[in-house]
Amino acid sequence: MKCRLLPGCPVCGGAYEFLVLSPDKRRIAVCYECSHVFVADPISPEKLRNYFQGRPAFEGSYAGLTFEDIGNPSRWQSYLYCRMDDLCRGLGGPQELCPQMRIAEVGCLEGRFLAELAAQGHHVVGCDLNEDAVPLGRGHLGLDLRVGTVEECMPMWGCFDLVIALHVLQHCLCPRTELATWVRLLAPGGRLVVHVGLNRDDYESKWCMQYFTERSIRKLMGFFFDKIVFRKHPRPNPDEKDKDIGAVVGYLGPAGAPPPGHDGLIGQQT
Ligand SMILES: [Zn+2]
Repeated sequence: MKCRLLPGCPVCGGAYEFLVLSPDKRRIAVCYECSHVFVADPISPEKLRNYFQGRPAFEGSYAGLTFEDIGNPSRWQSYLYCRMDDLCRGLGGPQELCPQMRIAEVGCLEGRFLAELAAQGHHVVGCDLNEDAVPLGRGHLGLDLRVGTVEECMPMWGCFDLVIALHVLQHCLCPRTELATWVRLLAPGGRLVVHVGLNRDDYESKWCMQYFTERSIRKLMGFFFDKIVFRKHPRPNPDEKDKDIGAVVGYLGPAGAPPPGHDGLIGQQT
């Protein structure tokens, strides 16, 4: 499926107006229909992909952790505690992580969180764009970690009980097209957990293409799922730019995912 920018808002296709110029001169716009805020003059997919490469992207994602820490499990304890807490809160409690689930993580970097889930008995696969972090993690953790987008490297449609994408969707140029490929990974009755920062208004990060509100992330997930549950909790660190974390769980019905090529735009398939 091609990445395709909608003529209007990248969530709903609705009309928008320009809101502000970001510190690095990007045009930030807001949708009249769904209140989504986004970069209206985005950089090329190739340039965006370059942002996610190598040591700088890795260390930008993990404050205080470096490539050298990938081989040092003791350095990851507080990170893993926070991430597991985030996931369980999003799901509605630790009891929602059933035994031996099939779990895929989109944007897994070196795969440390997947390793924790594997140690709990789950069957895990992950993908990430970072061409250096993924092989490093694969070597240390011995997991099935792949380089690329879901579309490029995870053809296992309908194979997972749970797909997680924690703080990934705001970096996508075409969130609706991207989300469609993640949904395809789910088995009938499976769940997708998406975490995004909410109500951010500094527009400083060159990595961030989408600025979700509760309304816009609900709208986006609603294109694909029979049922969605939204939960919000404050950022644990007050220095974070995102004011809140929105955790949205999409519950796929027994009929399973939409067919390939479906990106939620009924009658406008590519
Ligand atoms: Zn919209």
